[in-house]
Amino acid sequence: MLVLGGVTEALALARQLAADDIYSLAGLGRVPEDLPCQVRVGGFGGAEGLAQFVADNGIGLLVDATHPYAAQISANAVRAATLAGIPCWALRRPGWQAQAGDDWREVADWNELIHSLKPFRRPLFTLGREPLEHLDEIPEHQHWTVRCLQSQPATPRAEIIGARGPFTLESERELFARLHCDVLISKNSGSQATEPKLQVARELGVPVLVLRRPELPAVDRAFSEGRVLLEALKSIAAEAAPTQLCDP
Ligand code: NAP
Repeated sequence: MLVLGGVTEALALARQLAADDIYSLAGLGRVPEDLPCQVRVGGFGGAEGLAQFVADNGIGLLVDATHPYAAQISANAVRAATLAGIPCWALRRPGWQAQAGDDWREVADWNELIHSLKPFRRPLFTLGREPLEHLDEIPEHQHWTVRCLQSQPATPRAEIIGARGPFTLESERELFARLHCDVLISKNSGSQATEPKLQVARELGVPVLVLRRPELPAVDRAFSEGRVLLEALKSIAAEAAPTQLCDP
């Protein structure tokens, strides 16, 4: 089995894999050193490269457990599985749903986001590293805060906070209060680890610009929860060989 990872549920899954299974990471974040399976890091060279890796390593099942916004690797996974003639399963985590009191405004891409940001002064970006490429484009009337995995020094117009979830409600309340944040920018990842910021935005009446989810390709089996995916993997492993997946 080859598991494409990069999110919390994928790591939990990797902790249950057998010694000859492979867990793959793009290499942007931390690489765990305590997994029972093989770990590989870095791209495969597109769908064709991934199909070749699958063939070379005798992979029988490809599991896409990547982030819902990692659309390229998800597309590659489906294409590679087709090329290699093996099934592709995927974790397809549902998005968050707006609740009473929310003021969510969906944006399609960076350009639409920047346009929608114009009326605001103190945006808090929580959608990864993309804003770091635009720090010299900050409008006169704005001061940005960018929270992402990479920490880097502040500029006169922006503060960059290097942090990794999970975040608590209390710490998010403190952050919004300290920043005087008047708009939150977020992906709709659906992750519990980063959900508290949405509650704080709701409490304070702060609008949220939500980057639209990418379309992901259909797979042979899709699972909305890591736990259910793990159960399904355990059951096929039990059919093939009773000891292939470790017990928790
Ligand atoms: P992406 O745009 O879909 O993928 C870009 C390229 O990175 C892929 O074409 C592939 O290179 C390589 N890649 C991605 N995931 C890989 C994996 N698990 N193993 C090996 N190679 C991988 O992905 P992204 O949005 O840059 O995200 C990169 C990774 O970070 C993903 O694994 C994702 O789960 C994780 N992540 C992403 C986000 C997000 O917001 N996008 C948030 C949290 C975590 P080749 O074509 O050369 O194979």
